[in-house]
Amino acid sequence: MLEIEKFNKIVIANWKLNGSTSFLRDYLNNIEIKQSNLRDNCLIICPPTPYIKEINSSEFLKGAQDCSQFEEGAFTGEINAKMLKDIGCDFCIIGHSERRNHFKESNETILTKITNCINNDLIPICCVGESLEEKKQGLTKEVLKDQITKSLPKNINLNKIIIAYEPLWSIGTGIIPKIEDIVSIHNYIKNSIFLENNTKIVYGGSVKANNCKKIINLKEVDGLLVGGASLNLDEFNKIIEF
Ligand code: PEP
Repeated sequence: MLEIEKFNKIVIANWKLNGSTSFLRDYLNNIEIKQSNLRDNCLIICPPTPYIKEINSSEFLKGAQDCSQFEEGAFTGEINAKMLKDIGCDFCIIGHSERRNHFKESNETILTKITNCINNDLIPICCVGESLEEKKQGLTKEVLKDQITKSLPKNINLNKIIIAYEPLWSIGTGIIPKIEDIVSIHNYIKNSIFLENNTKIVYGGSVKANNCKKIINLKEVDGLLVGGASLNLDEFNKIIEF
């Protein structure tokens, strides 16, 4: 399995339900990746599954946006972790808030999906985050602890997973948390939930070219998960300058 410990910063592009063959072609032609950055840093592109196999680049790694909770069998429409590995993925986003909310995915389902990823040599990118209501009630840390402890297998190797802290009220809204809150939440996850400092924790939620530097340069932040801005190369090329 890929060794993510060696990366300084990790940037993940989540295209969500966007893209086409021509969009992909333009993207690959126009994405600007500085070779000097690749030694220490890692770029992961997560397009919709049909396009994953079309990408053949040594400059970045590939991820899927979800996988089935089932391993194999009569589950029409599903795509399993083994297939994603087979078409060249090294990563898979699991438990994105859009899946938790629109598709009612529970922590138990997410746990099964993460287990499937690990069994198939895929590094899960496990998304967690509080709603605005939970934040207002001062429940952020409690919610994160609950999501993380219930979503991760008990014996998981914490160097083989990425946690994406994505406050729900920040995703797609243009609002980001106060920098001191990002620092405090990342410290909380690393030191109080995991009791060690090595697990990669990336931040996601309304990351744009004009706010990425002050977030990614924080020592507590191991990278970024970028949704909307990853679709616009004027924006994204600036974000991946690192
Ligand atoms: C996301 O979808 O994970 C995300 C962070 O979206 P956005 O960057 O658009 O807020």
